[in-house]
Amino acid sequence: MKYNLETIPVRDAFEADSECPFCLLEQKAEEGYMKYYLGSSVMAPETRVTVNARGFCRAHWSALGRIRGERHALSLLAHTRFTEAAFRMEKILEKIGQYDKKRLESAITELESQVSGCVICERLEATMKRYYFTVVHLWKTDDQGFRKRYRESRGVCLRHLGGLVAMASETLCSGLKNLGGKAREDWKSWIRETLVMEQDSFHRLEGELFDYSRSFDPQYERKDLNYSDESLDEGIEKLTGKDFRP
Ligand SMILES: [Zn+2]
Ligand SMILES: [Zn+2]
Repeated sequence: MKYNLETIPVRDAFEADSECPFCLLEQKAEEGYMKYYLGSSVMAPETRVTVNARGFCRAHWSALGRIRGERHALSLLAHTRFTEAAFRMEKILEKIGQYDKKRLESAITELESQVSGCVICERLEATMKRYYFTVVHLWKTDDQGFRKRYRESRGVCLRHLGGLVAMASETLCSGLKNLGGKAREDWKSWIRETLVMEQDSFHRLEGELFDYSRSFDPQYERKDLNYSDESLDEGIEKLTGKDFRP
């Protein structure tokens, strides 16, 4: 698949001081989409049709609800999505009025699909793929010394590592189908450098978390412990990604 490059935001994210550049990129994209759905697009028929059909996930409905000053726009979206959801729910339940195992199973699947979609999550997923692609491209071409910047970064969180590895395999060696010559060398180098980057980051945080936990024990003195006030939050962010939502 072809992806567009997003060089400037990716470079900026790698220059910022964080435990995961993808978390920073995701935050900006997510804020942009939330603003979009509560902004003038609320009156655009195509936005309403999409939101009516797919809705948002629980996390995004909640986050949208916590944005101050946007209750009117949110109520417009919620009302038409609600009407659509109520209509579909009635149709599904009517369909299974008579006991029939197959119909019942498909109705349950249909009901579950009513809450599994989210237009913000879906757009974010596509956007993150472009960021992963850009990172792998900058690494492969070593554009403006990007490899060094990559290796010396504080790594990425576990939440984003899977997506990055998937994109690297897709881009560098066609999803592991083309493991000869240059592709094989690139893939091996990328994995090696990524492993070192992640090991450095995880080992450092592991040590800081251990010392942070010992700081509650009076037998240890602060001067003998190596941690910061941010160590605990940074360790958790490394596991799950940073949650920036209001
Ligand atoms: Zn992340
Ligand atoms: Zn969502």
